[in-house]
Amino acid sequence: MGTKVKGYAVMKEKENLKEWTFERRTLREDDVQIDILYCGVCHSDYHQINNDWGIGLYPMVPGHEIIGKVSAVGSKVKKFKVGDIAGVGVLVDSCGHCEDCKDHLEQYCPEMVMSYGSYYDEYGVKTITQGGYSKLIVTKEDYVLSVSDKLDLKRAAPLLCAGITTYSPLKHWGVKKGMKVAVVGLGGLGHMGVKFAVAMGADVTVLSTSTSKEKDAKELGAHHFICTKDEGAFEKHAKTFDFILNTVSAPLDINAYLGLLKRDGTLCNVGVPSTPYAVQAFGIIMPRRNFSGSMIGGIKETQEMLDFAAKHNVVADVEVIKMADINEAFKRMLASDVRYRFVIDMASL
Ligand code: NAP
Ligand code: ZN
Repeated sequence: MGTKVKGYAVMKEKENLKEWTFERRTLREDDVQIDILYCGVCHSDYHQINNDWGIGLYPMVPGHEIIGKVSAVGSKVKKFKVGDIAGVGVLVDSCGHCEDCKDHLEQYCPEMVMSYGSYYDEYGVKTITQGGYSKLIVTKEDYVLSVSDKLDLKRAAPLLCAGITTYSPLKHWGVKKGMKVAVVGLGGLGHMGVKFAVAMGADVTVLSTSTSKEKDAKELGAHHFICTKDEGAFEKHAKTFDFILNTVSAPLDINAYLGLLKRDGTLCNVGVPSTPYAVQAFGIIMPRRNFSGSMIGGIKETQEMLDFAAKHNVVADVEVIKMADINEAFKRMLASDVRYRFVIDMASL
């Protein structure tokens, strides 16, 4: 039998989270057991609790920005030893042999398993995976990341989702010095997007609905700030950007943002609102614009991102909360009142 672990869960969709004891599997030969120190609070956790995407599995312990200390390793584990600092993000397994897995893009594998809210075979039983709002996690070594102990760990936890989700598209679309990049939405993902795009040398603009975030945007390294509620903002900045990263969690008029792209520019969508966008054909035909999307990043790239973050000291701006304050934190996140990521201190559980 496995190990009894304390966590915070919802038993069904749309409930408040509350304490719940559940079981982690007994360590397998290729497993790493991690005592969780910190877990970031991603807007996806809220979408999943609320079943915004219609894919929620319950009971659900959310949390996929996990950092902790290795407390046990299976007999065949090579990369980790007890006492190491380790991270777990959204991915905990994939088939290992499809085209996506071979290309180190396991996040697109049809059999990809998420750290919570996926079905998984444990002891031959179909089980629901459970995430990082808990004391301990047991995960396959191949999906565990090494985290430099030089990083402030509570500020590094959000790298495991917000970090890689913004780093990966910036890299994929070749963001570099001389490019004009805009980040839409200054939240958990958005503020990491700004930091990475600045570190990659781009000229960075924040597009935000909150005028109160202008000073912060500049402190985070952005060169320009546009309040999207200002009259004429979209006309004034038409055909300005090479690349736009949209991190907004709610539906928005995507056509207005596409209009900000130069010819051949790309708008990459990482936000996941629960309703579809309505893209106007002429908005992308004229002048040959690209509308795209991206999901987190593969394990190899996540490690590369963590190493880049350690080298350039890119970490999140966080507000540390107690586990018991999570429901209140979600309310504040929905009101865009988080500067810029809530991180749960698991010692409080
Ligand atoms: P967050 O911290 O809540 O930030 C979202 C930001 O969007 C807010 O801070 C706000 O910024 C802006 N915003 C919110 N409501 C808006 C509205 N109605 N109109 C315009 N702007 C609005 O959320 P997050 O954790 O960064 O996550 C953002 C989205 O990315 C979520 O949908 C999440 O599920 C998704 N996500 C996707 C992936 C992926 O792999 N693709 C990974 C992780 C998360 P301003 O105040 O600056 O306007
Ligand atoms: Zn996330």
